[in-house]
Amino acid sequence: MPSQPRKARYIDPFHPDEIRRLVREFGSPLLIVDCARVRAQFRKLRKALPGVDLHYALKPMPHPAVVETVVDEGGFLDLATTGEVQLVARLGISPERCIHTHPIKRDEDIRNAVHFGVRTFVADNPDEIRKFERYARDVRLLIRVSFRSPGAVCDLSRKFGCDPEDVLALARLAAELGIDVRGLSFHVGSQAIDSAKHVEAINACAKLIAAARRERLGTFDTLDIGGGFPIEYMQPVPDIGRFCAPIRAALAQLPKRVRVIAEPGRYIVGPAAIGVASVMGRAKREGHWWYYLDDGLYGSYSGQLYDHARYPVVPLRNGSERLPSVLAGPTCDSIDVIAENLMLPKLEAGDLIVGQAMGAYTWASASEFNFFPRATVVSVNSKPGDLGTVTPFPL
Ligand SMILES: *Cc1c(COP(=O)(O)O)cnc(C)c1O
Repeated sequence: MPSQPRKARYIDPFHPDEIRRLVREFGSPLLIVDCARVRAQFRKLRKALPGVDLHYALKPMPHPAVVETVVDEGGFLDLATTGEVQLVARLGISPERCIHTHPIKRDEDIRNAVHFGVRTFVADNPDEIRKFERYARDVRLLIRVSFRSPGAVCDLSRKFGCDPEDVLALARLAAELGIDVRGLSFHVGSQAIDSAKHVEAINACAKLIAAARRERLGTFDTLDIGGGFPIEYMQPVPDIGRFCAPIRAALAQLPKRVRVIAEPGRYIVGPAAIGVASVMGRAKREGHWWYYLDDGLYGSYSGQLYDHARYPVVPLRNGSERLPSVLAGPTCDSIDVIAENLMLPKLEAGDLIVGQAMGAYTWASASEFNFFPRATVVSVNSKPGDLGTVTPFPL
């Protein structure tokens, strides 16, 4: 009897034994990306937003294994730079799965993306629309609208997006230049606390789309509801199904012909990775144990500055006695402190510290300040039996 190929057992790379094994094999600091968790996140969001095409925004974690996992799940991509276009092109992914959503581009960025085969772009002002005149036959636009969101941790509607009152004038300009406007997009801000802003923006866009269609200003058959879907760091957040329920209700009011897409970044990849750092040395200062790690605010923990995130940190060592402790990064800068006033067991050089929910806006914004190298990224479970693959990056 021919032997059945053994089905690869799922090994959880976030289990302490696996973390230790991966660090032995790939070194420290390490960012462990679990593609099984990327899949799970993607599926949860797809279930919470049925009928919405999910374009993964590469920016929070532009890693090939994440991109390929999303595409493998039937997902789409949201590109914003020539570098991201090149990454996707090298992976052999069809440009039909991609949109380009940076509202401000150089001509060469547009040219590179058009040359790759991207057709849908975003603009939010007259100058940017005029840049597309020479590509009018090849492209269609989404007009990005701004809905201010002072409540969001990162309000993305301050830097980009036009006032809702300006949408029709921009659509008229595009029509005069022979450029088709396919619809509207917005981004209410990352890590939204609730979905009220999404709902308000969807309702406002529905009215604008109807007005533009009455004036026959373009196809206007697409609404892009952006990203912003929250994940749990130190504070609990609503379950994604509950978060999206009001969004589903608002989308149900749209005319059937309007295709809805979204651009999730953080939600797809944030919970799918952990950061692992090692204690390089320690010192007792004013009654507190200071532990100096080989990753910090200039590295994977850069999100604590740029993204205003706080990652739950746990040592892999157990111990009943807990002492007041500080976790610091490796550089010689005094700002490079990850967490203070922690109660931790007494740690030793070589002990491992795990930062949770570190997939989004962490490694992507890390630097090599002081010549401390960025964490190695190892992807696991990208296919059955994948126990850890380091992809040279950039590819
Ligand atoms: C960063 C970004 C996203 C991803 O946002 P998340 O809050 O991480 O989901 C989506 N779209 C655009 C245009 C972005 O700039």
